[in-house]
Amino acid sequence: MSIRDNYLIIRNEIPDDVTIVAAAKTRTVEEVKEIIQAGATDIGENYLQEAEQMCEALGEITKQVRWHMIGNLQKNKINKALPLFNIIQTVDSLKHAEDINLRAERINKIISVLIEVNIGSEITKSGVAPDFEVIENLAQGISNLKFLKLEGLMTMGPISGDPEEVRPYFRKIKQIFVKIGDLNINNIEMKTLSMGMSNSYKVAIQEGSNMIRLGTILFGRR
Ligand SMILES: *Cc1c(COP(=O)(O)O)cnc(C)c1O
Repeated sequence: MSIRDNYLIIRNEIPDDVTIVAAAKTRTVEEVKEIIQAGATDIGENYLQEAEQMCEALGEITKQVRWHMIGNLQKNKINKALPLFNIIQTVDSLKHAEDINLRAERINKIISVLIEVNIGSEITKSGVAPDFEVIENLAQGISNLKFLKLEGLMTMGPISGDPEEVRPYFRKIKQIFVKIGDLNINNIEMKTLSMGMSNSYKVAIQEGSNMIRLGTILFGRR
């Protein structure tokens, strides 16, 4: 099946209020163009350099979609990333948030961010622990940064394996997400729960995700 068909089938099968972020790492310009033409509204990139090359090659249609940074953003890449991305999903410390805020202030751009929560700590070192107090503290800290707009949480979990095994973690993150929203912290708006990938998106949606990040199931194996 074509990328277009893959996208449309999943788009039709999930609720309208769930956003699909097409995870474009290692994909060609033609592949990303195809998915945008099929109606994709949001593209995720893991690497600044790939994102720069992609946006330049796509030209005008770059502006039709929102660009999400879903990989680690090193400090020395923040300046270049800020004009390109609409949202950075991988903020995982107050220091990182402050580094982004400082540079966003210089170009007077308010940038949307999500806190990255790591639910599969054996796989990656990035992301904060799935712990209410840790996440609340970081949310409070980010709320004081004028050029960041905290909009929710992003979870990285095990890439493969039985999605049922992640269900309890998804459920826990959703509870934390709701609890933080209930605190009504100034200057933040807990509206996005970016949770679920190709192998786990169905379970993630059942557990309350409203943003799924899909690579393999849309574009094929890497
Ligand atoms: C690659 C990637 C995805 C998509 O993973 P698939 O299993 O290919 O759907 C989602 N989120 C992040 C952060 C990724 O790097």
